[in-house]
Amino acid sequence: MRTQTVSVGKIFNIPVRLDYSWFLIFILLTWLLAGSYYPAAYPNWPVPEYWILGIATAVMFFVCVLLHELGHSVVAQRNGITVSSITLFVFGGVSQITEEATKPLTDFLVASAGLAVSLLLALGFAALQPVVAGVPPLLALAQYLTYINGLLLLFNVIPGFPLDGGRMFRAVVWGAVKNFDRATLIAAMLGRILAFLFILLGVWLIFFSSFLNGLWIVFIGWFLENASSQEVRQQTLRTLLAGHKVSQIMGRNYVTIPADISLQRLADDHILGAGRRFFIVENAGVVAGIMTLHKVREIPREEWSRTLVSQAMIPAERMDWVGPDAELWDALQKMNQDGVNQLPVMVDGRIQGVLNRENVINYLQTIRDLR
Ligand SMILES: [Zn+2]
Repeated sequence: MRTQTVSVGKIFNIPVRLDYSWFLIFILLTWLLAGSYYPAAYPNWPVPEYWILGIATAVMFFVCVLLHELGHSVVAQRNGITVSSITLFVFGGVSQITEEATKPLTDFLVASAGLAVSLLLALGFAALQPVVAGVPPLLALAQYLTYINGLLLLFNVIPGFPLDGGRMFRAVVWGAVKNFDRATLIAAMLGRILAFLFILLGVWLIFFSSFLNGLWIVFIGWFLENASSQEVRQQTLRTLLAGHKVSQIMGRNYVTIPADISLQRLADDHILGAGRRFFIVENAGVVAGIMTLHKVREIPREEWSRTLVSQAMIPAERMDWVGPDAELWDALQKMNQDGVNQLPVMVDGRIQGVLNRENVINYLQTIRDLR
């Protein structure tokens, strides 16, 4: 699912984005560091110093997370795997690696690269401490970054899929059983078992030891449980859809509209009249673009009569589409990535049909019922 993100540029040709939740966590982290962590650890400093240090630490923390993700992404790219973007969000970062590795060894290397970066950062900041020992704020920063990178390493090394350690574990299983899907299920299962153990341990800590530590462990367990069961669901879907093509379920009763009608006419004739939300825009029999209800709504209502469909549509060169022979699973991934519910199905610039998310879901239901 597409979340709200802000683009911050490209590194190694990989677009880096910030999820909106990142801003929240950035403010929260700065506030925790400047308001309580640093004043407790280093009393009697001037208040502004805590805040400057807090902001610097939060920025550096996210730089470290970004470097960790870049570790995965660069090794993936070197092995010919496309990385579509890196997004930093509430839990740190995630690299959108669109394809799966084709070899267990590659998968293992991509997963371990992030851990290697975190290990190097932890060691690097530890080595820096004696160097900056004379400057207390810098020392405090180096100490915190040593600690947080160590923590990141420890967390990610947990062999529960989809954490890095779990991915490495899957690669090993994959090499052993020679079946990617089965390896993913086994790794995700281990992830879920570990998640439940974390939750149990956390609950035990809450009642018999430290409430706050227990709460944290329960939270990590809950996060891991969610991520693992999400992977199991994904894997099940992929297995169900394997071998099924777009042409099997694409709809042919799409509506085409000319590019030179106004949005007002589109709204009156097609949207309000027929309740449709997706249109293929054609110009002399060639697909010129697509128009959606969403796109109409981006234009203020008072401008509808003056705005042509051609001015508001997604033009053909920027729109996403699939071929009729594409795998349904890949088409579904594409829809998820772009946050759309329909995809035009095209051959040589000519429209063949429209793939609807709803149709895919109904189809899945049918395959499931058949089993
Ligand atoms: Zn990682």
